[in-house]
Amino acid sequence: METISPECLKDGPGDHVEEELDSENYELAIAKAKTLLEMNPKDVDASILGGRAARRLGKFEEAYEMLKFGLEAEPKNKRIADEFRQLQKAIMDKCDTEIDDEKSYNALSMCSQDIYPGDDQLFLYEREILKVKYDVENKQIQMLPVSGQRAKDAAREALVAHGCIASDLNDALRHCSCAIDIDGNNPGIRQLRADIYYQRGEFIEALKDLYTIQKSKRSPSSWKIGGIILKDLDLPVTAEFWFRKATEMTSGKDEEAATLFQSVRVKRLYDPLTVHFPVSVHFAEYGRALIAKENLKPGDIAFEDTPIMHAQLLENRDVSVCDHCGHSLMRPRDYFGDAIDGFDNNLKELVKQHWPTPLPIVCDSCNMQKYCSDECKEQAWNQYHQVVCPTENPAAMKITICVKMQDTGMTVMESGLNYGMDISVP
Ligand SMILES: [Zn+2]
Ligand SMILES: [Zn+2]
Repeated sequence: METISPECLKDGPGDHVEEELDSENYELAIAKAKTLLEMNPKDVDASILGGRAARRLGKFEEAYEMLKFGLEAEPKNKRIADEFRQLQKAIMDKCDTEIDDEKSYNALSMCSQDIYPGDDQLFLYEREILKVKYDVENKQIQMLPVSGQRAKDAAREALVAHGCIASDLNDALRHCSCAIDIDGNNPGIRQLRADIYYQRGEFIEALKDLYTIQKSKRSPSSWKIGGIILKDLDLPVTAEFWFRKATEMTSGKDEEAATLFQSVRVKRLYDPLTVHFPVSVHFAEYGRALIAKENLKPGDIAFEDTPIMHAQLLENRDVSVCDHCGHSLMRPRDYFGDAIDGFDNNLKELVKQHWPTPLPIVCDSCNMQKYCSDECKEQAWNQYHQVVCPTENPAAMKITICVKMQDTGMTVMESGLNYGMDISVP
């Protein structure tokens, strides 16, 4: 249990950090710590007090801000490092419980509809396919305005068409086409005919009608139906475009359109990756899910992939691993501890013969990153480490993809939750 140094506790919150915090006066403790830090920003004990109290209240941003004072004052302080570890753990625990909690978890809101780099080119290819293979062109109709009477006649025909949909789709189509002949400008009538075509299973005809409507006049349901047809035609980038429009226009309220968008996206991202595996990736209520395509036996490999980047948690950072592939670099002593001294010679010999871990190989430049093999060292260098190796790129010190506090052996990762720590190596 840490104690707060006497001089900062003249009228302080109590003799012990814990004592004060056990009283559940976390808010008071935070306020007190803030006052102390205002008087002396280098007050490590106040920083810990405030950081810990804020963490207990789940105010992680605030805890981080408080602990930063301590870190700046004493970058090598082990207690500060420990507080950061606990903060990271609390953040991760909270994430875990939030994911378990169905009510606070909406898969759609967690998945972006961002356009991927290169999609513009794919979009052009797909447009070419639409034109050549299906004779569908993005040709919006701009006809001369029709007289009020013609517009009325067209509307009447369209109304009749609408009335027929439930009973006779042929009749509906005939009346709707008639309405379009009278007034081809009306986007509502074009959309009605697209709906009728769609219900008749004539998807290309439906798409042609949808494409004749000016973009600004297409309704959310037009965008959605167009997306569904484009999805079936296996034109994913264009389908995404249409579903994105449907989602945007309804401010995300059309969950069906948003779900369809994500199902197109996972198909185009994961189908090529899972083609040789007995699983496929689907998007459903709970988000992206791996679904077995056949019965799997214990021990079967369902899926394999290579992470772009990985990192150890602070909690197990003392377990030595290859910084590139994650292979364990523990030595027998790391694993067995002092017990190894009590091993008899046979056992020692066995360990020596069978211990699998190779010796760590370190980065030639910084001597900090360690690897299990020359291949890993080389791959890491070629793929990313030459950019972030502190000896090659001094700016990398500050971007803190991975900052080592050498004395504490602590590695601080930039976290996706913006609790990353902007600190430099002392
Ligand atoms: Zn390795
Ligand atoms: Zn290096």
